[in-house]
Amino acid sequence: MVGYPRAGKDYPRSVGELHAWFRTDADCLDYLEWLRWPSGFVCQDCGHSGGWRLGDGRFMCTGCGSRASVTAGTIFDRTRTPLTVWFTACWLFATRKDGISALSLKRTLEIGSYQTAWAMLHRLRSVLVRPGRERLAGVVEVDETYIGGLEPGLAGGRARGKKVLTGIAVEVREPRGIDRCRMLPLADASAESLHAFVRNHVEPGTRVITDGWQGYSGLEKLGYVHDRRSQRAARARGEGPGELLPAVHRIASLAKRWLLGTHQGSVDDAHMTSYLNEFVFRFNRRRSRSRGMVFYRLLELAVAHDPVRYKDIIATKRPRKIVPTPPKTRGQPPSLDRPPANRPWRGAVAG
Ligand SMILES: [Zn+2]
Repeated sequence: MVGYPRAGKDYPRSVGELHAWFRTDADCLDYLEWLRWPSGFVCQDCGHSGGWRLGDGRFMCTGCGSRASVTAGTIFDRTRTPLTVWFTACWLFATRKDGISALSLKRTLEIGSYQTAWAMLHRLRSVLVRPGRERLAGVVEVDETYIGGLEPGLAGGRARGKKVLTGIAVEVREPRGIDRCRMLPLADASAESLHAFVRNHVEPGTRVITDGWQGYSGLEKLGYVHDRRSQRAARARGEGPGELLPAVHRIASLAKRWLLGTHQGSVDDAHMTSYLNEFVFRFNRRRSRSRGMVFYRLLELAVAHDPVRYKDIIATKRPRKIVPTPPKTRGQPPSLDRPPANRPWRGAVAG
């Protein structure tokens, strides 16, 4: 892709266009090839540009002779889930305001097991942080708060796992409004952890607003303009804790509501980082002109990302147990293959 991607040409504008474009698994594969190698095959082994297309759809490098498929070395590597199903899952993930839970994805696409749907969503979550993404700048509020685990007052205590101490950084606009945010679990609230969080996510020279916690002392020495606000003074003015750092407070409550809503609080602490990445990805693209553009960006990241193995996703914990599906619907989901389309991204038909 050269230049800015165009709606209706480089990415589908609507779910109707999605289904019209990607009728077969071969259409999806061609789109991934176009996204991954916009100016032709590039060998992953030797870096050589140029190769032969083999009868089975793979490529053979003209430099070193190694063979590779379009999906090899991407998150779709060796997937047994049809690409038409993957594309629809990506569309739901990217275009729905609150994303989709593994259970809804399983039901919507007739995916045979909860584990498969759960792992698909985790593979997508793992690609969301673009390498070398820029840090926040301007005026940034920073705070740490507990997210996840049991929420008081939730009937039946459905939420699992422990609460996770989370660093939050939010770009604020003067006089009001929020731009981008970053969220990441922290080891603790020590100066070491908080300073590392700020350095990783906020550009030096930025005005950083924090509360009076001692863990934030010394930010000036790291090149930030530190604006420290005292809780005690705020209390004396009769203000609640949310008014001290309103942008951070807003992001934290949106993230908590999302975890309890879409995911019913069923997020265990071992996977909190990936859920927070998903929340941040969607929040920072909330003003995107087209939902289809978010779908395009997601696939672009997915073909540029190394394969993610199931054992890497399960980390230390297994997904939530679900009542087994009856045998007739087990196994791989049916492909959403339809008769061939005319592949507008190849320029045959300009939209
Ligand atoms: Zn090669």
